[in-house]
Amino acid sequence: MRVLLTNDDGINSPGLRALAETFAAHHETAVVAPEHERSATGHAITLHKPLRAIRYPAYPPGIVAWSTNGTPADCVVLGVGELLGYRPDVIVSGVNVGPNLGLDLTYSGTVSGAMEGAILGIPSLAVSVTSFVDVRFDVAARFAESLARLMVAHRLPDDVLINVNVPNLPAERLKGIAFTRQSNRRYLSRLEKRTDPRGRSYYWLTGEREPTNDQEGTDGWAVANGYISVTPIHLNMTDDRLLEVLRTWGLTVP
Ligand code: MN
Repeated sequence: MRVLLTNDDGINSPGLRALAETFAAHHETAVVAPEHERSATGHAITLHKPLRAIRYPAYPPGIVAWSTNGTPADCVVLGVGELLGYRPDVIVSGVNVGPNLGLDLTYSGTVSGAMEGAILGIPSLAVSVTSFVDVRFDVAARFAESLARLMVAHRLPDDVLINVNVPNLPAERLKGIAFTRQSNRRYLSRLEKRTDPRGRSYYWLTGEREPTNDQEGTDGWAVANGYISVTPIHLNMTDDRLLEVLRTWGLTVP
């Protein structure tokens, strides 16, 4: 397969490197990634300043890599539209340091890389390890490689992507694979107000995950119970239930 890899932790991230080495053992592998960390950029794209991409030599031979000043979504657009010179068979975003569960997906740069791939009609997956300390990438990278093969073999529906979260455990301690729904767990946005040296107020966002237990069958439940979570995600955000309700409200053109 011809594979495009990206991430939101930046081109130097060990998670991206592990992914690149795992894929390059079997596939033609290209990397297009942000020059520095762009976590929690959501699906931002760059419209108001130039985008630049430079070849990044610090990857093992056989892996073609570019570093860009763009977001993960920009990287996918640049890679597919220009840099690679071919249309990749599959796009993989990650391996992210830290989970992308529940409503994280709205903020996630990792997921947005895969989402941009899906918008371009290319099978795409996002993969994260659910820990920020002593992160091991080997299981996540190998799982992403086997899932990517199956995604290409099975032809996905249009406008979907797959979001994978892997507990930070050696393979033999994982319970298995759970096919899950996205949970509704939010962040309690703790806004810290501080004072700068000139006496002016500033604010620092420090989200903390809601302390509720995720329902069985959700992504958060799966990883908390030692399973690799695999969630199919639909790009179309229409709520069909509310669509029907809105029709009953009697709204008229004023
Ligand atoms: Mn990240």
